[in-house]
Amino acid sequence: MKLSEAIKLGSMTGPMLKGRLWDEEGGTGSCALGAAMKAVGQERNYYLNGLLKQFGWWWIEETRVSCPVCHTTTPLVDGITYSNTVRNMIPHINNYHNVTREWIADWVATIEPVEMEQQVATTTANNQREEVSVNG
Ligand SMILES: [Zn+2]
Repeated sequence: MKLSEAIKLGSMTGPMLKGRLWDEEGGTGSCALGAAMKAVGQERNYYLNGLLKQFGWWWIEETRVSCPVCHTTTPLVDGITYSNTVRNMIPHINNYHNVTREWIADWVATIEPVEMEQQVATTTANNQREEVSVNG
C-alpha cells in the first residue's frame, strides 16, 4: 500500500488530531502519520521508523521538500525546527496548517515513488510464469 493510500484509509477511522499521533484517552483520532499506521494495523506503542521501513515508506526520511502550504524548508513541529524531510513535513502540515489528512495524502501522492507498484507488478508476472510452468 502506498503511504498516501494508507493516510486516506486510516483517516476514515476517526477524527484528525494535531500534535499527537494517537488519542491517549482512548479515542479514535490520529494525525496523518498516525492514520497511516492505523491503516496497516498498528494501534499504539509502535516503532515508527521500523514500520516505515517495513512498509516501504522509508523514502519519506530521504526525500526533502518545501511545505506545500507555507513553502518553508525549516518546518516547525511542536515548537522545534526540523530538517525538511517529508517525514518532518507531514506533521508540520498536519499540526500547523488548516488542511485535512486527505489533503495531506493527496500531496504525498504527488511526490511518492512508484517503485512499490512496479515491484508488485513484477512479482505478479513472476507468479504467473511459475503457474504456467507448473501447469505445463
Ligand atoms: Zn508549512
